[in-house]
This record gives sequence, structure tokens and C-alpha cells, in this order.
Amino acid sequence: PVPVVAIVGRPNVGKSTLVNRILGRREAVVEDIPGVTRDRVSYAASWSGRRFTVVDTGGWEPDAKGLQQAVATQAEYAMQTADAIVLVVDGTVGATSTDEAVARVLRRSKTPVVLVANKIDSERAEADVATLWSLGLGEPFPVSAAHGRGAGDLLDVILNML
Ligand code: GDP
Ligand code: MG
Repeated sequence: PVPVVAIVGRPNVGKSTLVNRILGRREAVVEDIPGVTRDRVSYAASWSGRRFTVVDTGGWEPDAKGLQQAVATQAEYAMQTADAIVLVVDGTVGATSTDEAVARVLRRSKTPVVLVANKIDSERAEADVATLWSLGLGEPFPVSAAHGRGAGDLLDVILNML
């Protein structure tokens, strides 16, 4: 069976942009409006000759009140169904309470988790991501899904987890 990589995280951190970067094509819907991804969507991907499935677990369109619960549910789903989990946070914002809620769920995951700090569009911005160690998920991996910065290295990390 083809291994499954689940992309989780709160709305607007760039999950769908990262999915498109992994796919090398624009298939996942990217929106400036938070919460636009309607539901979990699976895509066939490959890197270094290995096939895997990427799941963009963006959905649920939660209202602000239900956000933490929705993202926690998303993480639970990923833990039950995926072979590797990518938690995406906005590296320019740092850890929000919602990020902390989802990290709390993922810290007890038996499925391997990589913490990605997205929107690190320049080398200068990389210094900001050190604060994300506080999420307790190991070293934050800086990428720019929009520009491709760090994407190849991240894919190598992901494949090593499968
Ligand atoms: P999602 O809700 O987590 O799926 O986030 P999206 O992929 O829809 O992206 C939300 C917004 O963040 C969009 O305006 C994207 O263009 C923007 N975005 C995504 N990745 C990056 C990035 O690496 N750098 C910057 N500067 N913006 C990004
Ligand atoms: Mg999305």
C-alpha cells in the first residue's frame, strides 16, 4: 500500500500551498480567506521515485470558537490514518494557542510528526523559528511553501519517516 502523509495545522498557515509544492502542481485550493479547504483531500505524489499519498486536512470551516476542537480532531484523524504527520505552523507568527492545542494532541502520537515552520521566505526569518521548540515536537523545520525554500529537504525528511 502507498504510505499516507497527512498535513495538519490551523487555517491559513499554508497547508494547501505546501501540498501544491509537494505535488509540483496547483491542485489544492489556496485561499487568502482562512478555512477555505472544505474537507480532507487526498492527492497522489512522488519524490525521489517513491510514491505516497498527501492528505490536505484543512477542512471543517470552524468558527473561531470551535477552532481548537476542530484542529485537535484533525490531528486525531491524522494519527489514526496516516504514516507520517506534518504539523504546519506560521513561522512568522510563532506558536498560537491553537498550535499549542494541536501540538498537545500530536505529542502522544505514535505516528512520526515533523514540525514545519512555514512562510520563512528568507534566511533572515529563520532565526524566528527557534521559539517553536516550545511546542515539544522537536526541531522546527523552516520552509517557504510559496517560494519552495526548504521544500526538497523537507520531502527528504518526510520520506525518511515512512
Ligand atoms: P491553509 O489554510 O493552511 O491551507 O493555507 P493556504 O495554503 O490556503 O495559504 C494561506 C495564505 O498564506 C495564502 O494567502 C498563501 O498565499 C499564503 N502562504 C502560504 N505559504 C506561504 C509562504 O511560504 N510564504 C508566504 N509569505 N505566504 C504563504
Ligand atoms: Mg487549505
